[in-house]
Amino acid sequence: MRACASCGAIATEATRLEEHLYELMSIPVILVNAAWRVACKGCGHETVLVPDQEGLTAATAVVRVQIPVKLNGKEIKFLRKALGYTAAALGEKLGDVVPETISRWENGASISPKSEAILRMFAAVSLSERAPAVDINYQALVHMKVNPVRNGFDLEPMRFERVKLKENRAKRELWDQTTVTKEAA
Ligand SMILES: [Zn+2]
Repeated sequence: MRACASCGAIATEATRLEEHLYELMSIPVILVNAAWRVACKGCGHETVLVPDQEGLTAATAVVRVQIPVKLNGKEIKFLRKALGYTAAALGEKLGDVVPETISRWENGASISPKSEAILRMFAAVSLSERAPAVDINYQALVHMKVNPVRNGFDLEPMRFERVKLKENRAKRELWDQTTVTKEAA
């Protein structure tokens, strides 16, 4: 148990949040029964805890690249950071794209369909290991038709939950895209 950041008291009360809208490097995601609100019993100070941010980042990237809506600048930047690359390093992976071009995409210039297809596949392959619960349909990814134009709209936030996966007899908690909607629940 950690001490309250505000008053130092250690008595806290944790509540699991049914739905929590969370901004992950500028990408809004909804966490379903996965984030915790921790309230201090001394002063009432509240914090929200989100587990396994690295896994959530990978899961969000892998889900996003399988949605056939053209990537916007914010999303391209998110994917680059999820991959842990500088603009120069990503440019190299995409086949001699100069960092200035990457920077232009991230600031709203349209990414070419070819570079977008490589970026999507590259992110899926590289990040799948850190998001093993998320299904990847590589066949669909290879044949994906993406509308070359995106008129600035934002996607509905992707939704994620914690699932248990068996691995060498041990159970591991991982992020997965949730199919549970509020209406169905
Ligand atoms: Zn406190």
